Amino acid sequence: MKFLSPVSTILPRILLTKAVVGFISLVCLSLILATAWQMRQSRSERFANAEMTVYNIVRAAEQHAQDTVKQADNTLRDLVERIENDGVSSNDQKARLKKLMAQNVVNIEGIQGIFIYNEQGNWVANSFPEDTKTRNNSDRAYFIYHRDHADESLHIGSIVKSRTTGDMIIPISRRINAADGNFAGVALATIPVTYFQNFFERLDVDNKGVIFLALNNGDLLARRPTLTKLQTTNVSKGEIFSIYLPRNDSGTAVVKSIVDGVERVYAYRRLSRLPIVAAAGVSFEHVFAPWWTYAYRSIAMISIIVLALAFLGILLYRQIQQLVVAEGELIDAKNELDVIAHTDSLTRLANRRCFDQNLHKEWGRAGRSQSDIALILLDIDWFKQFNDHYGHLQGDKCLKQIADLMELNVKRPIDLPARFGGEEFVILLPETNLEGALYVAEKIRSAVINAHIEHSGSPIRKVTISVGVVAVNAPEKDGYTAALAEADRLLYCAKNKGRNRVEGRFLHNCFAAREFNQSQSKQTEV
Ligand code: GH3
Ligand code: MG
Ligand code: MG
Repeated sequence: MKFLSPVSTILPRILLTKAVVGFISLVCLSLILATAWQMRQSRSERFANAEMTVYNIVRAAEQHAQDTVKQADNTLRDLVERIENDGVSSNDQKARLKKLMAQNVVNIEGIQGIFIYNEQGNWVANSFPEDTKTRNNSDRAYFIYHRDHADESLHIGSIVKSRTTGDMIIPISRRINAADGNFAGVALATIPVTYFQNFFERLDVDNKGVIFLALNNGDLLARRPTLTKLQTTNVSKGEIFSIYLPRNDSGTAVVKSIVDGVERVYAYRRLSRLPIVAAAGVSFEHVFAPWWTYAYRSIAMISIIVLALAFLGILLYRQIQQLVVAEGELIDAKNELDVIAHTDSLTRLANRRCFDQNLHKEWGRAGRSQSDIALILLDIDWFKQFNDHYGHLQGDKCLKQIADLMELNVKRPIDLPARFGGEEFVILLPETNLEGALYVAEKIRSAVINAHIEHSGSPIRKVTISVGVVAVNAPEKDGYTAALAEADRLLYCAKNKGRNRVEGRFLHNCFAAREFNQSQSKQTEV
């Protein structure tokens, strides 16, 4: 008999567990990836916005510096031309120049003072009031530059402290030539550093942001926020000057400032036709602070969802395990019930119901495949007397012994020994001819007698059996009832012939045998 085994659930259980783990992992992974992608996108957007902001600020600072320097330069150009053509020797000329310079200072926003020096560096004229103390500026870098360079272009110097006002100023100067081309002095316009710094204050950068102007050599000209050592600060070693400007005159970069150590998103730009670089930066902290808030919130949310899913997964997994255990128990119980339903409780052989089912099945198969099939029907001799003499319990024990002997002598797995009822047993032998069935029957009969089970009521004082055997080839459908009846008849033949013997017959036609059987019975009755 075949029963369902819990093994059949192993495959689905593994698959189901894998599917649950796989599905939950996939959902978690998708969520994490989608969030990571979204965070990356929003980071890129913030970065691009910051780049745009600093670029616009740099353009504004550039424009402002260009305009201021251009106006100062126009004034200087005009003055130099006048001096070179008209000279400044007479007091009258000096007075007119002074007036002109004072007017220019008033008209041009950003210029603090205008000065004319002669070839020794002495003040010849300036835009300041009459009582201003005159000095000698031959030690100034811009003076030395013009004295030593014939070049007539505009010169922008590093920050100096004004000897007139004490302010930090940016000197913008031009050389004055004598008629013979020799050095004749310098025309100077001064722009206070605060002028640029005040303008920077109006531009929109965060409190850790920066805007600065510097000379090409890295000397700072103006900076927001300002520095106490602004005049002496040189940023040529910073990454903007050392790495980015040599590659490109303008661009954006993420740089850690060498001045204050703050990491910023910078835009930088070399001013056209001027030896000045403008740069602006917004701090990383400012750019990404909202992004970090969003990122922390997203990470927290995803973590909660992933944890919840993992928890759900564990619950599901446990549920599946419990279901599998329950299913296993159910299958075991069903198998046990099947065994009970198909087994005789005393002898542990197949019971009548199981025999009938198998007989029906094997009979049909033998009919379809035109093969042999045999039935052995056996009955214990004088068993009533055995019970009467030894008692019912001993009788049961004897029945069990006979059943064990039957099982011992029926070797093939498809053979089915069963309890037919009371002290009668039956054996179904598919694909077995009469000769084979008689052989098996004889083996069991001799095994029983050789077991020497004491039976005082038997003539030979041992338990014996009588056996009826029928064999059929390609039996008719439903012919098994007739075949069984014939086996029963033969069994009683054996009884009549003295018991402890085997009677067998090959049936050509089950239904004919039945008719023959019936007529025999009638004769017996008569
Ligand atoms: P015969 O040689 O003609 O077969 O004689 P017999 O005594 O065996 O004949 P009968 O068929 O009349 O007796 C069957 C007896 O088997 C009746 C009953 O006491 C006994 N029997 C039937 N089923 C059981 C059982 O389950 N346990 C026990 N101990 N005895 C049983
Ligand atoms: Mg009987
Ligand atoms: Mg009997």
